[in-house]
Amino acid sequence: MEGKVIRGFGRGSRELGIPTANLPVDDNSTPWLADVKSGVYFGWASLRLPSSYPNQPPTKSSSSTTTVATGFSVYPMVHVLHDFEADFYGVEMRVLITGFIREMGGYAGVDELIEDIKVDCDVARKSLDREAWALRETGKGMLDGS
Ligand code: ADP
Ligand code: MG
Repeated sequence: MEGKVIRGFGRGSRELGIPTANLPVDDNSTPWLADVKSGVYFGWASLRLPSSYPNQPPTKSSSSTTTVATGFSVYPMVHVLHDFEADFYGVEMRVLITGFIREMGGYAGVDELIEDIKVDCDVARKSLDREAWALRETGKGMLDGS
């Protein structure tokens, strides 16, 4: 998936403490999305940050991706497993999904949701550290456009 990060309602950071970047892709630009379950996935992400961006993160960064249906539309939302110094709205992001963690939903409340997302991040981090999920040449090419 790829696109320029767009603004949402800002709820990810404000209400959950877990920012999720919205990718403006839909079933037209990304046809396979129509056949994919809403859920939590993990994979690799790349961001084309401007050179003025503070403390550039390492070129490789893992991400836990969520495809969420809202009242209006379906946007993939991406939480990148890196502490950023600033927002990156408008920046070109590419995401390569490599694995599925769980389906969405079934929460008793916000606290349970936050707990689950923390577990998702751990699963994503541990999985991506393993050799089987390593970013190989094909994956790198998909992320940097080469
Ligand atoms: P929005 O509703 O606009 O998506 P969020 O509160 O979910 O707002 O925050 C997402 C924004 O935060 C992203 O678009 C990005 O600019 C910024 N951001 C900062 N750190 C991260 C991160 N680790 N993962 C994803 N987005 C991040
Ligand atoms: Mg968000």
